This record gives sequence, structure tokens and C-alpha cells, in this order.
Amino acid sequence: MSIVVVSNRVARAKADEPMTGGLAAALLPAVKGSGAIWVGASDRTREMPGKDTFAEVEALGTGALATVEMPSAHYRGYYEGFANSVLWPALHSRPDLIRTGAQDYRSYREVNAFMARALLRFARPDTLFWVQDYHFLTLALELRAMGIRRPIGFFLHTPLPECSALMAVPHHRDLVNAMLAYDLIGFQTKPDCDNFVAYVTKVLGLGCLDGRIKSPHGITRVGVFPISIDAEMFANRATKSAARPEVTRLRSSLHGAKLVIGVDRVDYSKGIANRLHGFARMLQAQPTLRRAVALLQIAVPSREQIEAYGQLNAELAALVTDVNARLGEVDWTPVRYLNRSFSQPTLAGFYRTAQVGLVTPLHDGMNLVAKEYVAAQNPFDPGVLVLSEFAGAARELDGALLVNPHDIDGLASAIASALSMPGDERRERWESMMRRLRGTSVQSWFADFAGALAETRPPYTMATEATTVPARAVGAERAVLTPLRSP
Ligand code: UDP
Repeated sequence: MSIVVVSNRVARAKADEPMTGGLAAALLPAVKGSGAIWVGASDRTREMPGKDTFAEVEALGTGALATVEMPSAHYRGYYEGFANSVLWPALHSRPDLIRTGAQDYRSYREVNAFMARALLRFARPDTLFWVQDYHFLTLALELRAMGIRRPIGFFLHTPLPECSALMAVPHHRDLVNAMLAYDLIGFQTKPDCDNFVAYVTKVLGLGCLDGRIKSPHGITRVGVFPISIDAEMFANRATKSAARPEVTRLRSSLHGAKLVIGVDRVDYSKGIANRLHGFARMLQAQPTLRRAVALLQIAVPSREQIEAYGQLNAELAALVTDVNARLGEVDWTPVRYLNRSFSQPTLAGFYRTAQVGLVTPLHDGMNLVAKEYVAAQNPFDPGVLVLSEFAGAARELDGALLVNPHDIDGLASAIASALSMPGDERRERWESMMRRLRGTSVQSWFADFAGALAETRPPYTMATEATTVPARAVGAERAVLTPLRSP
């Protein structure tokens, strides 16, 4: 069985470079060990992508990493437009932030169709296609229209919101109908899966029984596959990282003060502003903590071309300046705010240095930083995880102090409790979370999904397939299912 994994971004193959996000970070070790081919967008785009669209194909473990140059005429409308200014806010229950551009949906569909054509070269009689995330909701539809009858799976790394937020997406019916061309759709949590089924039954009027949705495409299975990390690898990394120069410098700069750490892309879903307010409120309420604790917030720049992100950057910078100006002392700065990224080995050392991991998204599919923080702790003197109940990880990490990120007083008191928690309680909470993390891994997540996908269409009963594109069939299928609207 050969597996082709598809995502917009692929990871950089070197461990010592910062990851571009949770998806790439999580997938890298799993894909490396699986022999799969991982296909994604190149950093470059091309004006008229012709036959040879592959910028680079390099070895990755026993498999390969292939990047494809996307069509420049559509990339912006697809990526900054429909994917990140329409789908991302809706999926994170922020329909108020949806911004639509006239051509964006068309560009989204074009890029999906383009990626489907690029994938054809990998189609073998035993290939499973596994598509990652909201960038490619319509990819299976395009592959089917090109004659592919092999199993095609989809995993959503973000949350899947309630019907009303999903219905705020222009073309939502088209999109969800197109998703039903997948054989298996995986979600991070049960509520995400339930929300999808609720949409499909209430809005599309389709039937769903025992996780099987019946549609004109056939049967689509839905299931919950919470993504995880390689906890042992992260723990080893953290032990070794203690001696890294940046980690040593961080430790010695604290002069005995405790450290609270936050690590996020700058994104409105991450709740960074509420976190800063919570930290500041704690310092106001408990003046004895001043000079005894510092917050290191790593805020990795993200999607800066999009208006909402530019505004957020400015808002956060102003908030940090305000907190430091109001509460700082001549020899103490409460918030260290860094707009840059670090490699995972360095991050692991930072996590281990921090007595508190502060992970307070307003909505998050999983949040791998939460799992990484736990895995990186010293078993004899572990730190405390303060975790939003709206992160997918909260369903698994039962030893965390769970918080409502909208409740600033609650955040302030949870951080204070974490800072003063006795060693026995910290160890007990950490052990229960670590047990959980050891019981799962990103490798088992990968194998579970691929195994379930393989079962959707037993390989030897599949029809023989064309690997070239029958132009008439493409047009015909689109016309029936989800016509591409002219501008
Ligand atoms: N990350 C990194 N360097 C940084 C900040 C983050 O390599 O400076 C990685 C981090 O280790 C984690 C991922 O980026 O694996 C972020 O994943 P998460 O699920 O927390 O959030 P996402 O960015 O996918 O929304």
C-alpha cells in the first residue's frame, strides 16, 4: 500500500528549523517513518504551471517530500482569500471576521483542481490519498472527476463549528457536498464530528447512521482521530536541550524568578490578548509576585498580509507595551514578547525551564504546544499546564488546570495557583497527562487513520482507473455536483 499525503504546507526536513505550524510539525515524524509521499505547495508560485510543476522532490525517510509550484494567478485568492479569510475564521467560530474577495472562491476551486492534476502522477493501483486540512475541501471531488476510484481520506486539523458558523461560509452547501466525495473524514474531537453530522443531516438533509453518511457520492465514514506528538522524542529532546545556548541564557536571565511561557502563532484564535490581560491582572492582585515571575510570550508572525492579522499584531504590541509600562520596574520586565520563531529543540528547552505553560486559545483544533509542554517537563519537578477548555487537547490532558479564556479573573487565579502548586500535586497531574501522551503517538494516529481509510474500499475490488484526465468527465461531474460559478 502506498500513501500520498497532501497538505498546503509541508515541513522543512531539518529538525533544527522552526516548524511552520502544528500540522507540519506533527506530520513530519509520522510521514518520515511511513514511506509515504508528502505533497504540498512550494514557496514559489508559477505564472503558467505546465506539465512539470514539481519544484523539488527530496527523500524523506523511506518516502519523499514533493513540492509543487502553485498557479500565481490563483494562489493569493486561494490562500489569503478563501482559505484564511473565509474558512479559517468560520471554522474558529469567528464569522464576523469573514472577508470575501470577488474571485476568491473561484481561485480556491482552481487550486484544488490544480493540485488534483498534480497528484495524478502518484496514483498507483494501491495508493491511498490522504488530504490534510481546510485548504483542500474539494480535492476529492476533483480527483473523482479525474477517474480516481481509490480511497481518499480527509483530516480536519481545525475545529468544526456549529451549523450557524458554518452556514456563514459562502458556498457552504457546495463545499460540504464536495467533502462527501471523501471516503473517510477525520476530526480532532467528538464535538467537531457531531457538528459535521448535524450540518449534513439538518442542512443537507442526508442520513447518517453509525458514522456513515449516505450521499450521491456513496458512503462517507466520519470518525474522531485526535492528533498527538512523539512524546518520548520530545522528552529526550528537552533533556538534551537544557545545555543549548539560548536555553542557558534564558535560565540565567531569570535570576531566580519563575517563568510562565506561551508559544503561539499570532492568530486571533489563540487568545493571546486575554492571556496578557490575565497575567497583568494576577500581578495587580498579587503585588508580591512582581519581580518573582516573568511571562515569555513567543508570538510567531503569521499570515501578515491579511488585515485581521495586521491589526492583531498592532493590538498585541500595544498591549505588551502597556503592561510593561504600568507594571514593570527598573530591573524587571513582566512580559518578554518575541515576534520570532525557534527550532523545536530550543523550544523544548524553554518549555522545561518554565514552571507554567500557558495555552489559552479561544478555539483550537488540538494545540500541540500543550502536549509538547507536558512532554518536555522534568519528571521530578514538572511545571503546570494552564489550558483553555476550548482547545482540543483539553479532552485528553486531564491533569491541566482548565480555564475559560474569556474569564480574565479566572485566568489570573489559575496562573497564580499554578505558580504556587505543591510538588506532589504537580507530579500527580503531570504523570496522568504523560501516561495519556505515552499511550498515543503521532505514529499511531497516522496508522489508525490510514488503516481506517484502507478499509473504506478494499483494494482488490476497485475498478481499474484511468490516470489521465478525461476532459469531458471533469466538466460533466462539476456541472452536476458543484458548478464553478463564473465571476
Ligand atoms: N513551533 C515551532 N517554533 C516556534 C513556535 C512553534 O517549531 O517558534 C511549532 C510548535 O513546536 C508546534 C507547532 O509549531 O509543534 C504549533 O502547533 P499548534 O498545534 O500548537 O498550533 P498551530 O500553529 O498549528 O495553530
